[in-house]
Amino acid sequence: ASQSEEHDLVIIGGGVAGYVAAIKAGQEGLKTACIEKRGTLGGTCLNVGCIPSKSLLNNSHLYHQILHDTKKRGIEVGDVKLNLEQMMKAKDTSVDGLTKGVEFLLKKNGVDYVKGTGSFVSENEVKVNLLEGGERTLRGKNIIIATGSESTPFPGLEVDEKRIITSTGALALTEVPKKLVVIGGGIIGLEMASVWSRLGSEVTVVEFLGQIGGPGMDAEIAKAAQKILAKQGIKFLTNTKVTSGDVSGSTVALNVEASKGGKEQTLDADAVLVAIGRRPYTAGLGLENVGLEADDKGRLVIDQEYRTKTSHIRVIGDCTFGPMLAHKAEEEAVAAIEYITKGHGHVNYAAIPSVMYTHPEVAWVGQNEEELKKAGIKYKKGTFPFSANSRAKTNLETEGLVKFLSDAETDRILGVHILGSNAGEMVAEATLAVEYGASSEDVARTCHAHPTLAEAFKEAAMATYSKAIHF
Ligand code: FAD
Ligand code: NAD
Repeated sequence: ASQSEEHDLVIIGGGVAGYVAAIKAGQEGLKTACIEKRGTLGGTCLNVGCIPSKSLLNNSHLYHQILHDTKKRGIEVGDVKLNLEQMMKAKDTSVDGLTKGVEFLLKKNGVDYVKGTGSFVSENEVKVNLLEGGERTLRGKNIIIATGSESTPFPGLEVDEKRIITSTGALALTEVPKKLVVIGGGIIGLEMASVWSRLGSEVTVVEFLGQIGGPGMDAEIAKAAQKILAKQGIKFLTNTKVTSGDVSGSTVALNVEASKGGKEQTLDADAVLVAIGRRPYTAGLGLENVGLEADDKGRLVIDQEYRTKTSHIRVIGDCTFGPMLAHKAEEEAVAAIEYITKGHGHVNYAAIPSVMYTHPEVAWVGQNEEELKKAGIKYKKGTFPFSANSRAKTNLETEGLVKFLSDAETDRILGVHILGSNAGEMVAEATLAVEYGASSEDVARTCHAHPTLAEAFKEAAMATYSKAIHF
């Protein structure tokens, strides 16, 4: 047993939520400890999420482009080969550099980084089972829970990360599976389907709903994206559910049928990716010792200032409400520290962008058409296709469109939805506009450099209250 050590703040979890809170707390002069059990900082996002997936997406896109999209550009290449081991190494190098960078930042800001598993002993005490053996007990005037999320399992299909895989396995396959079936056509499913399809897998995505893209994606955009991804070779079975699977053979046999019931068919696969969502992770935290509540989805219950009913214990990131996104976790981390040190903080949940990093990318902020209709809000719509944008034409990247939705009366922007090669960067401008309560006319009267893809953004804004010039 050890003596308990006093801290102003103890953070459980060193993911994006936890490590950002730790840095901010260090900057604000709080004596802070950050407990992480993984052995590296950065959580899901840096180790097995955002970062490794974007490395594989970027390099698989490059490979695919070199194979299929160079001739018309006047580039003749021969003998293109995939070296999967090296592609994985490049991914690991990026991850390694970033997780070590975070460790450096914690040190620089005077944060005590404690490697081990934390669990509540009492309302102010967290016991850490250290990775190196032994334990420490940390006392915190304030405690932040930032333990993140885990992949939701599919009943009856046990994950072995080789044949039945989660995103973690899909980021570390040592061979390109001949046939890959993806259960769930959300963001993880489509990003991973893209990677492996580009590297040569025959990929089938089974999606329960009639629409791909997961929650929040505008239906018109989702439909257009599906068409493009299908053209790239990904097969889609929408309105379809997996009923059972058999892993006893040399390939996995998956039985699927229409979501509403109907004729069964069997898909065989070398690997099956389960990507039906993620759920909060709080196992082993000793929540029962402090009587904290979770809702029916396992999310820890908090108020507007991230406080549990025990007010010095706060919760941020994936293990509580809101979209499971790294940038959302980061915003909450800063706000939570500001609540502790200053008594006020700020996160605008109406202006959190979403990006799907397929090619082309899909990105959006604010409400989609279906949500506006459901809420009975009258809106105007302006669109502009990249096929009419000069830069997209010179880049030979003309797929997709920008779509603005703004209030019918005031012209205030309510949502922006983009399908295009750099949608993920472009959505930053949309987010700024929404954050500042801009109208579509505000955006359209802002000068945009020529020739840029951002002119499509400006012209879609123009088309919302008037007419686009180039279409
Ligand atoms: P996590 O990152 O999950 O961190 C929680 C940490 O707490 C973990 O490291 C865990 O080991 C640790 N922990 C848990 N319990 C304990 C304990 N008792 N003691 C000590 N440590 C503990 N989001 C985006 O915004 N953009 C993307 O491109 C993106 N891509 C993704 C791709 C994939 C494949 C996946 C799976 C997710 C992706 N996400 C993306 C989501 C993003 O990773 C999460 O929203 C983000 O990581 C949430 O941060 P967090 O700190 O709340 O949780
Ligand atoms: P998701 O909720 O985005 O999508 C899950 C999909 O699976 C949905 O379309 C759903 O209808 C479908 N589904 C659910 N049950 C099913 C079933 N039984 N059979 C067939 N389909 C089924 O979840 P995800 O893709 O697993 O991602 C999890 C989280 O990680 C999300 O919150 C996402 O925001 C985050 N993430 C973000 C990024 C990014 O920002 N680029 C990348 C990866 C993950």
